[in-house]
Amino acid sequence: MTSPLVIAIDGPSGSGKSTVSRAVARELGLQYLDTGSMYRAMTWFMQDQHVDLDDPQEIAAYAKQAQILPSTNPDTPGIHVGPIDVSEPIRGENVTAGVSRVSAVPEVRALLVDLQREIAANAVNGIVAEGRDIGPVVLPNAKVKIFLTADETARAARRAAENGEDIQATQQQLARRDKADSTRKTSPLVQADDAVVVDTTDMTLEQVIERILNIVRGA
Ligand code: C5P
Repeated sequence: MTSPLVIAIDGPSGSGKSTVSRAVARELGLQYLDTGSMYRAMTWFMQDQHVDLDDPQEIAAYAKQAQILPSTNPDTPGIHVGPIDVSEPIRGENVTAGVSRVSAVPEVRALLVDLQREIAANAVNGIVAEGRDIGPVVLPNAKVKIFLTADETARAARRAAENGEDIQATQQQLARRDKADSTRKTSPLVQADDAVVVDTTDMTLEQVIERILNIVRGA
């Protein structure tokens, strides 16, 4: 029996991580985990419970109560909090504006990292997991580690096209979130030393997917 294939894809918002990770998982017959959706679902839960997002202690106290259930099927991505399907609301402005405050709380990270490791350990054929800290922290033994990046304007243009939002406002929001995610104390967004960097600024989606599949085949 071959061991499960674990692929970690990290990078900032709008680098194309989700679409690319899902396509790679589908192509290789692996499961798929969007860890950003887990931090978003946790944020949705906090907002639903009227937790003060400027109070890390209150966030930590509530975190244990949230039952975060992501789908790992690349054909039907989505996420539930308990029985509630939050796949759509977690993409809204409210959650996006709050998520960096929730994801910076160490107790939240500890809970979600444990859950991410458990999901990966149960993926029989393997998994493509995407986020900010997968290669360096969550799955340090991943066979393939990719750091996807793109310049800020390209990332903002992609996000704005996805959401139908204004490019300039999206770029400001991205820059704020990148700064918060890269400067937080616990597991900031950093490039793993052993990650292969793929700059997608001038690449089409198909080219990025092909590039990653080639990296996996050569690993
Ligand atoms: O990838 P996405 O933009 O949906 O991630 C939302 C937020 O979740 C990020 O801005 C970051 O604060 C947090 N996140 C994280 N660690 C991960 C994935 C996401 O802190 N592994």
